[in-house]
Amino acid sequence: MLPCRAYFVEANSFKKILSGYSGLRLIPEIEHPPAPTYINGLVAMQGNAAHFMTNFQQLGPSQQIEDAMILGTLLRSAHSRADVEAALYAYDTVRRPRSQWVSEHGKRLGWLWTGMVEDVGIDAKKLKKAMLQWKEDSEAFDLKAHKNEAVKIMKQTIKDRSTGEKIVTQDEKMKAGFQGLWEAMREKSGEQVEL
Ligand SMILES: Cc1cc2nc3c(=O)[nH]c(=O)nc-3n(C[C@H](O)[C@H](O)[C@H](O)COP(=O)(O)OP(=O)(O)OC[C@H]3O[C@@H](n4cnc5c(N)ncnc54)[C@H](O)[C@@H]3O)c2cc1C
Repeated sequence: MLPCRAYFVEANSFKKILSGYSGLRLIPEIEHPPAPTYINGLVAMQGNAAHFMTNFQQLGPSQQIEDAMILGTLLRSAHSRADVEAALYAYDTVRRPRSQWVSEHGKRLGWLWTGMVEDVGIDAKKLKKAMLQWKEDSEAFDLKAHKNEAVKIMKQTIKDRSTGEKIVTQDEKMKAGFQGLWEAMREKSGEQVEL
């Protein structure tokens, strides 16, 4: 076995360094595509059931707390079935992009930790800069504004429905979501698969 220093000198990625010690027994992270919707009718998903988080960032519980906070705020002001539908619509509209961004962001931390980000690698100076930027991006989130946005969407949805304004139905939203997801997967795999 080579001494630790030799691994760092000879290996050009963390994967190689870790493989040297573990004999290629690396821990796999299983990833699934983001959900195209968190709601269906009057049913909503939240927490781990709705969004995947990697082990690198450990943000499963915090995202669940944010979900519960937004859902609780919205449902508290719902007094009819139509209000509940509007609440869930607002919940899905704000929480899905936010939690899926956090999921992607956590994944980036994993790539950074393992030296797998292109143009950063295991260069200490570049890693420091990238991680500080990563931290800054994480902390830029304004939870109060997020909550206000959800409430605004719910109120607007109730108003639009009462005046007969056309809003995107859940079925249309799901269809568009699945279409987008399918296209992204197809692009990633490079396969020509038809819907
Ligand atoms: C081994 C392990 C270690 C972890 N370590 C950490 C860590 O160190 N730090 C960290 O931040 N995160 C950690 N996590 C992640 C963290 O536990 C989750 O992100 C968090 O628990 C998600 O909360 P949740 O409320 O979304 O889901 P859960 O905590 O899974 O809660 C879901 C609840 O729903 C219940 N349930 C399921 N189906 C039904 C049903 N049909 N009817 C009624 N109830 C049902 C379940 O019994 C459960 O109580 C770890 C996870 C695991 C598995």
